[in-house]
Amino acid sequence: MTKDEITSIKQLLSTKKKIVIVPHKNPDGDAIGSILGLYHYLLKKNHDVAVISPNDYPSFLKWIPGENIILKHDSQTKMCNALIEAADIIFTLDFNAYHRAGNMESVLEKSSAIKIMIDHHQAPDDYATYIFSDVSMSSTCEMIYHFIDMLGDTDSIKADIATCLYVGIMTDTGSFRFRSTTSRTHEIIAHLIDKGADNTQIHNNVYDTNTYERLQLLGCALNNLKVIPESKTAYISLSQEELFKYNYKKGDTEGVVNYALSLENIVLAAIFIEDKQEGIIKISLRSKGDFSVNELSRAHFEGGGHTNAAGGKSHLSLHDTIEKFINLLPSYKKALNNE
Ligand code: 5GP
Ligand code: MN
Repeated sequence: MTKDEITSIKQLLSTKKKIVIVPHKNPDGDAIGSILGLYHYLLKKNHDVAVISPNDYPSFLKWIPGENIILKHDSQTKMCNALIEAADIIFTLDFNAYHRAGNMESVLEKSSAIKIMIDHHQAPDDYATYIFSDVSMSSTCEMIYHFIDMLGDTDSIKADIATCLYVGIMTDTGSFRFRSTTSRTHEIIAHLIDKGADNTQIHNNVYDTNTYERLQLLGCALNNLKVIPESKTAYISLSQEELFKYNYKKGDTEGVVNYALSLENIVLAAIFIEDKQEGIIKISLRSKGDFSVNELSRAHFEGGGHTNAAGGKSHLSLHDTIEKFINLLPSYKKALNNE
């Protein structure tokens, strides 16, 4: 973002505005943390702020400060559309193409509000008036910190904002272990703790609130784990029947793909989750090193994301999707073996 753009945004935010903040569909910790962190900030600046998620999110995020004010577009469509139509400014956070907002795509497209995108995914579309896009960033939450910093306003960060931003940095960095975690990330985390983010409590709220059924589902997933040693690939599948059996709830499969990636000598990991309601197989891909699952997903599974973490979908059956994936591997053999 240029100095001129920062000056214009400062100017824009210097008078009371109607603002709507939107994350991507199926929001994760970074999406919810960033929309709420920005919400608290803009509220302190006396704006009229609404936060609208395309749909619901996992219960391990339902404690974050301000979480109860989030409107859900799929169940509160009329009210949400009215807010979007009346908005002066719309922030789109943690995504960079309208279709990632699911059914909100058309109402966002039609809106004449000033759009501000803050995001760290690859290949942003250019729908926004102001684009703060940086693929080197660990998380959108880290970018919200920088955004507030660019506005010269880090003094306004108190425990509520600090807690929200901590959540997203923690979840998107795999608890500060992925390559995107820099010394600057740690400096920001240190600052957020100083401002009142209770790190032990946050880790506990997100990671240590499993239900018994969720762990049983994890056991089922691990039983389904398959390894293809010659392609340094491991994958997991979960059928709709298995999800029903363990009383699946949104978020229960979050992080499961990482067990496949944790195997020694594995470079590529995938999980295939059957969703009969949407009529798709939802795919999560993870990799180690330079192998780009973003490119793999863009080329074959209608998705995208980052080099080492991406998502996508397939309209084939669970069996045929896995077969398609396995048949693709020989063409990636060199890259997977780093030759
Ligand atoms: P996950 O596998 O945890 O759902 O997502 C991993 C990363 O890929 C996240 O940054 C997420 O935003 C992105 N991602 C997940 N699904 C999709 C998708 O269908 N399309 C695109 N473009 N990105 C996705
Ligand atoms: Mn993110």
